[in-house]
Amino acid sequence: MNAVRLETNTPQFQNDLADVVRLLLGPCEVRPDAGGIVLRHTHAQEGETLLERCTLEGDLPRGGALSRLCREEGGLLVREVRAAAGEGGPLAEKRAVKRAAKTCLFELLGATVEKLPPWGSLTGIRPTRLLYEALEKGMTVEEGRSWLRDTFYVSESRTGLLAEILAMQEGLIGREPKEFDLYAGIPFCRTRCTYCSFAAGELGDGRRVVPYVDALIREMELCAEMARERGLRLRAGYIGGGTPTAIAPEQLRRVIEAAQRLYPGAREWTVEAGRPDTIDRAQLAMLREMGIGRICVNPQTFHDETLRRVGRAHTSEDTLRAFALAREMGFGHINMDFIAALPGEGREDLVSSIRQAVALAPESITVHALAIKHSSKLNEQRYRQSSPEEAQRMVEEARALLEGAGYRPYYLYRQKYMAGNLENVGYAKPGCACLYNIDNMEETAPVLAFGAGAISKWLFPGRDDGGRDERIERAPNVRNIDEYIARAEEMAQRKIALVTQ
Ligand code: SF4
Repeated sequence: MNAVRLETNTPQFQNDLADVVRLLLGPCEVRPDAGGIVLRHTHAQEGETLLERCTLEGDLPRGGALSRLCREEGGLLVREVRAAAGEGGPLAEKRAVKRAAKTCLFELLGATVEKLPPWGSLTGIRPTRLLYEALEKGMTVEEGRSWLRDTFYVSESRTGLLAEILAMQEGLIGREPKEFDLYAGIPFCRTRCTYCSFAAGELGDGRRVVPYVDALIREMELCAEMARERGLRLRAGYIGGGTPTAIAPEQLRRVIEAAQRLYPGAREWTVEAGRPDTIDRAQLAMLREMGIGRICVNPQTFHDETLRRVGRAHTSEDTLRAFALAREMGFGHINMDFIAALPGEGREDLVSSIRQAVALAPESITVHALAIKHSSKLNEQRYRQSSPEEAQRMVEEARALLEGAGYRPYYLYRQKYMAGNLENVGYAKPGCACLYNIDNMEETAPVLAFGAGAISKWLFPGRDDGGRDERIERAPNVRNIDEYIARAEEMAQRKIALVTQ
């Protein structure tokens, strides 16, 4: 399908409704002025009741999974939904309208497909939030799972995944007052992966490493005084990328040393070493000296043919060597990342990669589903994703293998344009979960984020008088490296303004 016309009297939700269309009808353009299939949504409110009505005009199959909820009326397929208006401030009200509108459209289009997607009508990135929301309303986990199934059509398998994640997060989620996380980004890579969502110009070529590190340290210095004055305390630190270990160890040491000196007291530090071909004895020795407890060695796959195809300049041999070296040098927490549905890979390829990883016994393993972002080479190449069913079989088999080997899911997030509308899941052995990942994915701790493209987030509590909802505000840094180097002080001021407003 090329294009679908979508008209709504709530234009502020046009993009959210378009996501629902793509969720059920597959990749297509959704515009208010397209021809062919026509979808109309109208929202109205009577007192405390929201009234949503969606209609479908055009040639789509009918009699699908949710046809019992819809009716035919003058050649149109019609679905109407009544829902309670949200209680609380304006944000809660807006959320209630958006949810009702999306549900109505999902139920209408659910009459045109035989099988519903695994996450039902959910298109946001944090389904765990909904289960937490159910618990806050006094439901048990089982009642919360039923609510997710009945309200959002989330599959049994996915509500079970959420319940397992909540169990793993127990005692880890939440923070002491004034605690925050720190992220410092090193946006350099030796080659660009075909699925990478950074524009080529945003990933450095190595010649700007020293001025970049100078700017990064300057940005951290400028914010440190504000953090001290406000009594902020670091909870978890994360050096990400790019590939932090793509720069010389002495430059990476400068970044870590500055971060730890300016923001002392973290409960954990993680360095996303990432590409195995950048991990050598000198880098690992420096990380050990700096007290880094957790690193990532990311194979993505153990198939060399695929690694070549996706532009990663390393082999599975490099991964094995880097992993063995890290163990020999005493790293007790190593994470490994994999991507399901990489170009040219099927179920057996992912399964054999995960089997090899399990044999190495890293403390945590993350399984992503391939997402094709607009700025990636794969998108330029008009690469078509594996079928949703195949992608789903892959991640489900990976999950079964990992759980059978004693790993448990502990965080999850979703992105747009993912294979099969699936999810990225972090698995860890009990006691090995990464705090930063939980905080970041659940948005339960504020983050001061430094470096090109880094996005700081600050959490503001709601007001008891109902005047304002709890909210999260963001301060993004510029993505381009040259611009970042020139404007690092301004980026620091943005962060200070965010925190001190
Ligand atoms: S390692 Fe990550 S940041 Fe670097 S090119 Fe690949 S996807 Fe992009």
